[in-house]
Amino acid sequence: MQQSIKISDDCQEQFHPQICLRKNFGLFENELKRKKAAGDLAVVYGWSRKLAGRAWKVRKCGDLTVFSLVRGGVRRLMAANFCCERLCPLCMHRRSVRVFEQMTRVLNWLDGQAAKVGRTRYRYLLLTLTVKNCEGEALKDSIDHLMHSWNKFNQRKPFKKAVKGYFRAFEVTRNDKTGEYHPHFHLLLAVNPSYFKGDGYIKQSEWVRLWREAAKLDYDPIVDIRPIKENKRFGEVAEVTKYTVKSKDYIHPDLEKSVPIVETLHGALFGRRLYFFGGVFAEARKALKLEDPEKNLTDGEEVKLRQECIVALEYFRFDHGLDDWVLKKTVLTPDGVNGRDISLKAMADMALEDVKAGGSMKKYENIVQAMRPAALDAFANAVVEDENGEVQE
Ligand SMILES: [Zn+2]
Repeated sequence: MQQSIKISDDCQEQFHPQICLRKNFGLFENELKRKKAAGDLAVVYGWSRKLAGRAWKVRKCGDLTVFSLVRGGVRRLMAANFCCERLCPLCMHRRSVRVFEQMTRVLNWLDGQAAKVGRTRYRYLLLTLTVKNCEGEALKDSIDHLMHSWNKFNQRKPFKKAVKGYFRAFEVTRNDKTGEYHPHFHLLLAVNPSYFKGDGYIKQSEWVRLWREAAKLDYDPIVDIRPIKENKRFGEVAEVTKYTVKSKDYIHPDLEKSVPIVETLHGALFGRRLYFFGGVFAEARKALKLEDPEKNLTDGEEVKLRQECIVALEYFRFDHGLDDWVLKKTVLTPDGVNGRDISLKAMADMALEDVKAGGSMKKYENIVQAMRPAALDAFANAVVEDENGEVQE
C-alpha cells in the first residue's frame, strides 16, 4: 500500500507542470527555428576537420537564458550563453536586432539635435555597392578587395562633400545553382536636404564611376542608389541591418553538402568588422554611449537606456527533448538597480552554474570583478535563493 503511494508521488514529481518559454509565453517559435538551425550548424562543424572544435559551443548556444521581467510585464533578454560564432543563426539574429535598435536611436537622436538648433533634418539614401560574383576559393580575397576599395571610396571628394554620415553593413549571398558567392555592401547615407537641390548631388552614373575607380574595376559595377521616404525609413533601416548571410544559403537540407560552404564562409568572415558607423552616425553613437553591437547580444543596453525597472530575473534552460526553455529559478530584484549590473549578475550566476558543472573559475571571477560593489550589495540583500542555494533541476 505504502509503496504504491510512493510510486504515485514520484510520478507526480516527474510530471510536475513546468513553466516554459514557448508553451506558456508564446512568441518563441522563431527562436526555436533558429535554435534548430544552430543545431544543424553544430552538426556541420562537427563534420569539418578545421572547425570541429566549435561544434559543442554552437550546439549549446542559447541553452541558458536569463530574462528580466520589467515593470509593465515585458520580458527582456539579460544574459545567455551565446556562442558568438559569425554563422550561428541565433547569434546572427541577435546582432541584427541590436544594430537595428542602435540605428533607430541614432536617427531619433539626430532628429532631436536638428530640432534643438532649428535645422532641417537629414535625409537618407540607400546605396548598394557590388563587385562581380566569385568562386568559393576567391571569396576571402574578394572581401579584402571590397573592404580596401571602400576605404578609398569614402575618401573621394564628391562623397565627402555630399555624405554627412554613413552606416555600412556587409552581406554575402550564395547562389546554390552556380555555387558562386556575392559579397556586397549595403549603406545608409545621411545627406543635407539641400543635396536634392543640387548641393553636392551625385547622379547614379557618377556613383558608378566613383565606385569603379575606387575598386579599380575594368567593368561598370552594379550600384544601386535611392532616397528613402521619411515615413518609410525604419522599414528601410531594418533592411540594411538584416543578416550578414542567410542561414538557408549555407545550411543545406543535405547537411553534408554544407561542410565546404560553411568552411568557406567561416574563413572569409573571420575577424571582419561587419558593421561600421561613420560621420554623424559615429558622433550620435558616441553621444548616446552605445556599446559595440557585435560584442553584446543581450537587451541589457536597451533596458539601461530606457531606464526600465526590473522586478525579477527568470532563469531558463533549454530542454532538448521538450524543444522549449524551462523555467529553473526566479529571483526578485530591488527597485532601481541598473541594467548593466543586473546583466553582469545574471552572467556571473550562469558562470557559477558552469563552474559547478566543471567549467572555468576564471570566467566567473572576471565577471564578478567587473561588477560594481554597490550593485553586489544590493543583490546580496535582495536575492531570494531556494533553501539549498542551488538551481533546481
Ligand atoms: Zn550562437
